[in-house]
Amino acid sequence: MRKKVVAGNWKCNTTLQEGVDLAKAVNNVVNEKGADDVVVVLGTPFTHITKAIENVDTKRIGVSAQNCAAEAKGAFTGEVSAAMIKSTGAEYVILGHSERREYYGETSETLNKKLALSLENGLTPIYCCGEPLEIREAGNQKEYVIKQLKETIFNLSADEFGKIIVAYEPIWAIGTGKTATTEQAQEMHKDIRDSIADQFGEEVANNTSILYGGSCNPKNANELFANPDVDGGLIGGASLKADDFIQIINAY
Ligand code: PEP
Repeated sequence: MRKKVVAGNWKCNTTLQEGVDLAKAVNNVVNEKGADDVVVVLGTPFTHITKAIENVDTKRIGVSAQNCAAEAKGAFTGEVSAAMIKSTGAEYVILGHSERREYYGETSETLNKKLALSLENGLTPIYCCGEPLEIREAGNQKEYVIKQLKETIFNLSADEFGKIIVAYEPIWAIGTGKTATTEQAQEMHKDIRDSIADQFGEEVANNTSILYGGSCNPKNANELFANPDVDGGLIGGASLKADDFIQIINAY
């Protein structure tokens, strides 16, 4: 049975103190309300991971990095390895976010190295895919996204694939206030699940959590999460406001 997941992606936002306050605020409500049927994840900057972990009940809330190095270790100034992330107590790592693909030249080749290192080190990758606006306007979103999957996560073994979370994030909806309609989200999530079934079989496909990301907020979360193939959300802007993020968690 696949899990429902609501994961925040704080991106390059919050000072350490602001991040601790945000983690505490989310933790208080999650602890009060239970939210036991939803896996809650906070995707913090590297600098905040340890403190975030100290300030949440890690049985209820997982902490995620937003990237990791493509190399295991060595002379790679400024990089943070999967092993380092794991050693903090973080459990997740967001990989392949469109901002990393676009601004930092992340390719499928780099992503394959990052996926392998994350899995070797026992981290759960939250693998992002999604099409730009021109591809959506041309109606080629399915081919585009399936190609991203084929070049990366479909190279994993079924056992490895069973450990990852997929996030479908149409680039035109990220941070734009423009959300995919519930039909657009469901259609693509179903396409992704079907392609996983073709690659790894029905059981793996049915057990894979596929999250929606792109201007998800307290007003639209309910409708988006009601889709049979939408298993939660990867939340950017709205994860920076504790009240909004909590309302999204409670949309389940
Ligand atoms: C994201 O960047 O992963 C994201 C979904 O951002 P937003 O919710 O702000 O659109």
